[in-house]
Amino acid sequence: MTGQNTESQPPSPPTRSTCRFCGTHLSQSFVDLGSSPLCQKHVPPSKVQEAELYFPLHAYVCTECYLVQLDEFVVPSEIFGDGEYAYFASFSDSWLAHARRYVDAVSERFKLGKNSFVIEIASNDGYLLQNFVERGVPVLGIEPASNCAAAALKKGVESRVCFFSAETARRLVDEGKRPDLLLGNNVLAHVPDVNDFVAGMQLLLADTGVITMEFPHLVRLIAENQFDTIYHEHFSYFSFTTVRRIFARHGLRLFDVEELPTHGGSLRIYACQDKAAHLTTERVGALLAQEKQLGVETSEYYASFAEKVRETKRRLLEFLIQAKRAGKTVVGYGAPGKGNTLLNYCGIRRDFIDYTVDRSPHKQNNLLPGSRIPIHAPEKIFETKPDYVLLLPWNLKEEIMSQMAGIRKWGGKFVVPIPSVQVFDPSVQAFE
Ligand SMILES: [Zn+2]
Repeated sequence: MTGQNTESQPPSPPTRSTCRFCGTHLSQSFVDLGSSPLCQKHVPPSKVQEAELYFPLHAYVCTECYLVQLDEFVVPSEIFGDGEYAYFASFSDSWLAHARRYVDAVSERFKLGKNSFVIEIASNDGYLLQNFVERGVPVLGIEPASNCAAAALKKGVESRVCFFSAETARRLVDEGKRPDLLLGNNVLAHVPDVNDFVAGMQLLLADTGVITMEFPHLVRLIAENQFDTIYHEHFSYFSFTTVRRIFARHGLRLFDVEELPTHGGSLRIYACQDKAAHLTTERVGALLAQEKQLGVETSEYYASFAEKVRETKRRLLEFLIQAKRAGKTVVGYGAPGKGNTLLNYCGIRRDFIDYTVDRSPHKQNNLLPGSRIPIHAPEKIFETKPDYVLLLPWNLKEEIMSQMAGIRKWGGKFVVPIPSVQVFDPSVQAFE
């Protein structure tokens, strides 16, 4: 973290063990994933002899508003503490393409041009806003990790190094910076004080402006057993029903929603000031009805998830034990946050996986937190020719299997762990 100004500190968290939205005591367990280190804290070679901090990873569901959340609070300065947050969005081709398509669509729909103003919360290295810059639309990024903000500046994306909060919003309003489009992708889940955050967005948004936010859809997490997307940096997991309730409490109306394939199934919500003229689309009512039918506002809907997770662990270990007994070599692909939840919860270390690879040079030559599996550049796979490549970022499996299709030369196969172990043979299946 650069500087000691108060703006770079996150707002205080709500009291532990109560719902971070409605304050109800959290009594229903959703899933207990044991304890693990923070998932972005890769271990550099110089720290191999040092201890790692472990935190409990236990998700609860609120029996009042049905917000799924972690009960144990980790201060975000721990997460971004050294200003060297390792996640650079620009290292995924499909995510870059997704951002570009979004900018094209939203610019067209809301007529954004030179006289508009766009703010992105958690703008990372400017991978999305750079598309607005190309179109001549003025932008501002808000990004707590200073190394990401510095990378953004090189793309011509001005960024402020701070967490977004109601206080940040007040300062921007004082400067006359009220955006026509306020967006945040994969940030809502990371917010410790969701009330302060959403109140800040309402304060900041221009009267006729539009908010769009993308976040993984809880309904898909449950249906497809994506328990590895639960990690300390993700405090909250939203259904459409619950997120609508949170926004409504702060004077924002959700007028449209899209279901996206990203991150295993995400929602993109469109919000405006309660009294703004944007017409509410039929998709809003349809998704609410669909969630009601599933039972998202009943405790039963959440009750069976934990056992599904335990069974997935048993299946993955079964596969790995059989592979190792048969003398096969297994390596990983990717070093995403979700991979660490999977590996640490399942107790998979170098006893099963020799190493993993990642395209991001910021991750290479470090060790994964907890499991201490080394991270190399992808070329390593072509040097060592392993029998199996376990895909940790399974949400990008098509992209990776196509990039890595060359493993068929020595009979290598891909293994996808979620929703449950599946083996793909690239010599018989083609990938886009
Ligand atoms: Zn609640």
